[in-house]
Amino acid sequence: MADLTITLPDGSTRTLPEGATGVDLAADIGPGLAKAAIIANVNGDGRDLDRPLPDGATVAIVTADSDEGLHTLRHSTAHVLAQAVLELWPGATYAIGPPIEHGFYYDFELPGGVTFSQDDLEAIEARMRLIVDADQAFERCEAGADDALELFADHRFKREIIEQVTSGDADTELAGEAAADGTVTYYRNGDGFIDLCTGPHVPTTGRLGHFALQKVAGAYWRGDERQPMLQRIYGTAWADKKALKGHLHRLAEAEKRDHRRLAAELDLVSWPEALGPGLAVWHPKGALVRKLIEDYSRARHEAGGYDFVYSPHIAKSILWETSGHLDFYADGMYPPMEVDGAIYYPKPMNCPFHVAIFQSGQRSYRDLPRRFFELGAVYRYELSGAIHGLLRSRGFTQDDSHIFCTPDQVLGELASLLDFTLSVLRAFGFEDFQAKLSTRPFEKSVGEDALWDMAIDGLRSALESAGLDYVVDEGGGAFYGPKIDVDVTDAIGRPWQLSTIQLDFNLPERFKLEYVGADGGRHRPVMIHRALMGSIERFFGVLIEHYAGAFPLWLAPEQVRVLPVADEHQAYAESVRNHLVAAQFRATVDPADEPLGKRVRAGKVAKVPHVLVVGDDDAANGTVGDNARGAEAPERDLPLDEFLERLSASVEARL
Ligand SMILES: [Zn+2]
Ligand SMILES: [Zn+2]
Repeated sequence: MADLTITLPDGSTRTLPEGATGVDLAADIGPGLAKAAIIANVNGDGRDLDRPLPDGATVAIVTADSDEGLHTLRHSTAHVLAQAVLELWPGATYAIGPPIEHGFYYDFELPGGVTFSQDDLEAIEARMRLIVDADQAFERCEAGADDALELFADHRFKREIIEQVTSGDADTELAGEAAADGTVTYYRNGDGFIDLCTGPHVPTTGRLGHFALQKVAGAYWRGDERQPMLQRIYGTAWADKKALKGHLHRLAEAEKRDHRRLAAELDLVSWPEALGPGLAVWHPKGALVRKLIEDYSRARHEAGGYDFVYSPHIAKSILWETSGHLDFYADGMYPPMEVDGAIYYPKPMNCPFHVAIFQSGQRSYRDLPRRFFELGAVYRYELSGAIHGLLRSRGFTQDDSHIFCTPDQVLGELASLLDFTLSVLRAFGFEDFQAKLSTRPFEKSVGEDALWDMAIDGLRSALESAGLDYVVDEGGGAFYGPKIDVDVTDAIGRPWQLSTIQLDFNLPERFKLEYVGADGGRHRPVMIHRALMGSIERFFGVLIEHYAGAFPLWLAPEQVRVLPVADEHQAYAESVRNHLVAAQFRATVDPADEPLGKRVRAGKVAKVPHVLVVGDDDAANGTVGDNARGAEAPERDLPLDEFLERLSASVEARL
C-alpha cells in the first residue's frame, strides 16, 4: 500500500498509510492531541477528523482552545439544539443555526403558531444533555438535489436552502449551509436526526457539553420582514467548564454594570422619549461628574500646551463641501436646514472649524505646532437599532484636538501625544491598554510616500517607547493617513475603544493650508486629529460600567453623607457637613426622619464613598463613625480632622 506524506504546521512531515484520517494523524503525533482533537485543518479548510487525508496535504490538528476549534464546537452544539427542539416539538421545523461570537443560535418555527417561552429553555437544555450523554457520532452524508428535497420534505426552510444552493445562486450565508457541486451535504446523528450542513463537526456529541441556552428572540427568515417570523434561541458554548463559568460570570457582571440601569438608579442621566433616540439629558449628579471629568481634562490640556477653542454647532454647506464630508460622510450627517437662503448642516465633526481657525491668519513655522482643543458637540446619524445609551448616541461631545505641525515636527508630536493620552486615561483608573496601528491602504490613498513612511514609523516607535501591546492592521488606515486606536480594558476585562490619533494629509490639501517656512517659502502643514476619551458621553458610560457606578472619591458626586443617630445630633451633623464643605468636599446630611439602619443602607445603595454616623460621643469629642464604601466594618471615634486629612489625601491621589 502506498504511503501518505503529510506536512504539519511547523514544516515537519509525517508518513502515514494510505487512507489515514485526521484521527490517525492526531494519534501518530501523540495521545494527548488525539484526545483533544476536534477537526483537522487540511490545506486551510476544516474537515471532520474521520475523513481520509489527501497525500501531500498540509494538515493542522485543531483543538478547542483555538478559534477554529471553538467555532466547530459551537456549530456542533447548534445541531444538538435543533435536534432537541425537533424531538420535543413534533412538527417543529428549523431554519439556520450558525455559530456566533461566544456561542450560537438556531431559528425555529413551532407547529400551530406556538412560540417558545424563556421557561422552555430548561427543558430544551435537559434534552440536549441527553443527546450529549448518548455520545452520538456525527456522520457526513451526501445526496443529489432531488433526494435531498425528499429527505427534508417536511421542512420548507431547508428545502428553500437546497433549492438555492443547488441552483447556484445562494448568497454566502446560505452557501455555508449545504455544499452544492451537484450534491448536497448533510449530517446525521442519533436516531435519524439530519441537518443540512457543510461541516465540519466534532466527532461525537460527547465532545460537547459546556454550553448554556440564554434567550429566545424573534427573527425573520432571511432577516426579511416580509418573510415569516421565526423563533431564535441563543446559546453560549465553550471548551471547558471553567471557560463557560467565566463567560456567564462576565455576562452577569456586565448586566449588573449596565450604565443605562445605573444611570437611572443613581440619577445621573436620562433619555426622555420627547427628545428622540440617542439624545440624553444630564441630571445634576451626572452633570457634576461630567464637570469633574472635563475640569481634569482641561487642566491637563492646559499644562500640555493646547489652546482652547470653540466653534458653532452648524455651518454652511460650503464648509462641508470643501472638507469632503458631504462626499464621504453624508450618511452620518443630519439633513440640512435652509436659513436666509443658505444651506446649513449640523456638524458631525469639529475638524473643519479648527482648520478655519488655523486659516484665520498667516502662520509661520515659528508658530508651529499649534494644538487646538475643544469639547465640541457633534451630531451623527446612527441607525436607531445601533443606539446604545451613552455608548453610541446621536449627539455627543468629543474631546477633540487638532494639531497643525511641520513635517519635521510629526515624530515629536506623535511620541508625546501617545504618552499624554495614556497618562490621562490612567488617571481614570485604566491600567490595561491594547493598541492598533492602521497603515496605508493598498488601494487609493493621498500623500507622499515619504510622509506616510515617516508617520507610520513615528506611530510605531511611539507605541514601542510607550511599551504598549499593539497589533498592525496592514492597509487598514484611512486614505488620508495612518492612525493609532487605543482600547482600554475595564474592570471585568472588556475592551473599549476610546482614543484615536489620526494623521491627515488630506484636509490641509483640501483647505490649501500653508505656513511660511524658515526658507521664506510656503509649505503645507501636517494635521493630526486626536480624540482622547472619544466622547465625554461614551467615556462617562464606560466609567460607569468600569466602576459599577461606585465612582472613586475624586469623581463621586456625593462624597460624604452625614447621618445623625437621632434628632438631637442634627446640629452636630450639620457642623460636620459644614466643615467638609468648607474644605471643598461634596457632603450632605440625611436627617433622622428614618431609622438609622435604613439610612445607612440608602447611602450604600447610592454608592456614597463615606457614610458618617454621628451620636452623643461624637458630638462631645469632635469625632465621626465612618462607614467607608467597601470596608468590612465601620470605623468609630475617628477625629474629624483626621478624617478630613484622609479625604484630602485620597482626592489628591485620585483614588
Ligand atoms: Zn453543521
Ligand atoms: Zn478631526
